[in-house]
Amino acid sequence: MRFLRWAKEELGFNRNTRYQQCYLNETNIKSGIYMSFIVVLLEAWMIWRYVHKRPGLSFTEYFDGETNYLIFFSAAIVLLIFSLRYGGYVKNRVVGPVIALSVIILDIASIGRVLYKNAAEMSGGELLLAVKYHLVLLLLTVLFVLYERIFTAKGKKNDIYGQLLNVLFAVISLGFGIETSLYDVSKSRQILCFITMVIFAVCMLIWKPYISVILSGLVFIYFYQLWYPALYELDAANEGKVLEGDRINFFIFWIVIVMVSISIYQQRRHEAIKDENLIAANTELDRKSKEDDLTGIHNMYFFNQETEAMLRDPSVDFSKKIFLFMNVENFKTYNDQFGYQAGNEYLTALAHRICDAFPEDPVARQSDDHFVVFTDADKAPEKTELVRKMVSGGDSEVYLELKVGGFCPKSRETDPRVAIDCARYACSLTKNQYGQNYREYNEEVDSEFHKRQYIVNHIDRAVQNGYIKVFYQPVVWAGTKEVCGFEALARWDDPTYGFLSPGMFIPVLEEYRQIHKLDACIFEQVCQNMREGFDLGISVLPVSLNFSRLDFELMDAVGLLEELIERYDIPKDYLHVEITESALTENMEVLDEAMKRIKNDGIAMWLDDFGAGYSSFNVLKDFDFDVLKIDMTFLKGFEKNEKSPVILNTIIQLADELGMLSLTEGVETEEAADFLTEAGCGRLQGYLFGKPIPIEEVREKITSGAYRVSSKLI
Ligand code: C2E
Ligand code: MG
Ligand code: MG
Repeated sequence: MRFLRWAKEELGFNRNTRYQQCYLNETNIKSGIYMSFIVVLLEAWMIWRYVHKRPGLSFTEYFDGETNYLIFFSAAIVLLIFSLRYGGYVKNRVVGPVIALSVIILDIASIGRVLYKNAAEMSGGELLLAVKYHLVLLLLTVLFVLYERIFTAKGKKNDIYGQLLNVLFAVISLGFGIETSLYDVSKSRQILCFITMVIFAVCMLIWKPYISVILSGLVFIYFYQLWYPALYELDAANEGKVLEGDRINFFIFWIVIVMVSISIYQQRRHEAIKDENLIAANTELDRKSKEDDLTGIHNMYFFNQETEAMLRDPSVDFSKKIFLFMNVENFKTYNDQFGYQAGNEYLTALAHRICDAFPEDPVARQSDDHFVVFTDADKAPEKTELVRKMVSGGDSEVYLELKVGGFCPKSRETDPRVAIDCARYACSLTKNQYGQNYREYNEEVDSEFHKRQYIVNHIDRAVQNGYIKVFYQPVVWAGTKEVCGFEALARWDDPTYGFLSPGMFIPVLEEYRQIHKLDACIFEQVCQNMREGFDLGISVLPVSLNFSRLDFELMDAVGLLEELIERYDIPKDYLHVEITESALTENMEVLDEAMKRIKNDGIAMWLDDFGAGYSSFNVLKDFDFDVLKIDMTFLKGFEKNEKSPVILNTIIQLADELGMLSLTEGVETEEAADFLTEAGCGRLQGYLFGKPIPIEEVREKITSGAYRVSSKLI
């Protein structure tokens, strides 16, 4: 069974791939060029020799004597020009047909002459046999003309055609070999011409070995039965010493020819297979280097190369172009709700929608739910709208919004990576800005961008040099309006930029994971100030500290707090920990453990900014907070909005029922204060009672009586 499978493969019964077929075909065509070229030279020399050796004959006598040479010569010329045209080595479209036409005329004239000369003695069948090689030549030439007209005109190649012409030429070669060798044999010479022509033909037909085996087998048998009478005669004349030896040699020669043909075929086929694998690997590598794995659209590597080339291209007006950075806001919630698989499918669909919206422009996925585009600035809004429709228009329960940042290149030297960074930054400014979904990178954004870089690069120096300071904002009892505590708020007083607001530097420090440096500095200053207060005998009030959720990841925040409390000897009920509601949605394991430790240490925990973001009552259910800080957004337009009082009332009641104390921040008016007091909110904080101020002013206000300090702690 295995042998059969092996033999089947060796003889070429297996199906080759398209590439392997083409490869074999191309190499055959190349063999055709070499072989036909040699034949043209040889036959020209033979014809010249013939004429030279027989001076004084008439043209028809030369013609008749040299018909076989002429056929072979003409066929070689036709095959040579065909192979050169097929291989694309000769572009001229006139030479081929002119030669072909001359060959056709000559061949028809030859056929006419054979018929004319022999019509009287020969039957129709005999005449046909007499012109058989003329007819093959005619067929070969006509096929070549057809090839020129049909395929070359359309710029196409046709494998079968290439093989067919080679086969026809091989037939002519073999015929020439047979005729000449029989003639030689009749003059007691060897059959060398036949052998040479067989080698010729086999070399040209490295194609399907089984076809070569059958073809050469038939030719050998045919020649053998023609040759046999002469061989037999020779044998008789040489006392029976010729027949057996020559017959064996003859068939061994055939076997060797078959083996050579199989081995060359297999060699070429394996080369083709190797080549094909290499090309496939290269194509895959090429695809991988350009393609984004998840969505199948281009990746950043390709995008950068493509846009860089476009920017450098003088025919592209770079000043009318724009880089867009797209981000799907709230996509995390989509993933949480529907799972990663659905999220991936969504991103893939979105990627293709973006490609459809920007059909002629470079588009790529940068990472996560971020996509980039390089397009015409004037058409950008309209095209972006098509993408936005998909993002906001879906019927899923999760609200998604497409946020876009733009950056216009300033010169041909603009680095696409930097451009995308800028567009990304512009896009980040629209984050959580309801209704704002596009921002372009302009001068204002640029200075903001540099300020951010400055913050990240200078946080260590700011901490060391004392640029980071604590300001204290008072918290009062709603009933008496006496100060019962403070919130510690960070301030950055910078020698270069002046006063920086926390709204600016806190998000940046969080984004770059540096916030713990600032918080550690604030915690220490608060404890220091308190210790001083205690030591000086001034009344000291409790202070609440703002914790970023990242503090618990980036440092041992609880450990630090415990250490500071011990070092400065601070009573535990003088410090409170504020954690914002939004912190409670990510990396819960670390946070959960930290909160348990804080509780165990006996430090109160406050839930900050309740109601600021996408409030979830689960937070109240799942965590144990002592104080609920109601966000100031509820007080915005409080007097005009009838619903605000209702909501505030409900939240305060809810806190009460859950056993939490309530505190409302952002109280700016007497009306709001009165309402909140009435509603039962125990503590108030806001500009109405005092803005954040430095410790010196706090002490001054306490000693001067400007702050009425409560004897009851918060
Ligand atoms: P927060 O913790 O909710 O702090 C209250 C913010 O509201 C403070 O802004 C305060 O100045 C402001 N505020 C207080 N009363 C009023 C009022 O009546 N009207 C108005 N319009 N605003 C009022 P600030 O100091 O700019 O801080 C902003 C946010 O930055 C803070 O919000 C807090 O989340 C964060 N933050 C401040 N300092 C620190 C800190 O040391 N560490 C950390 N991690 N975050 C801090
Ligand atoms: Mg706070
Ligand atoms: Mg707050």
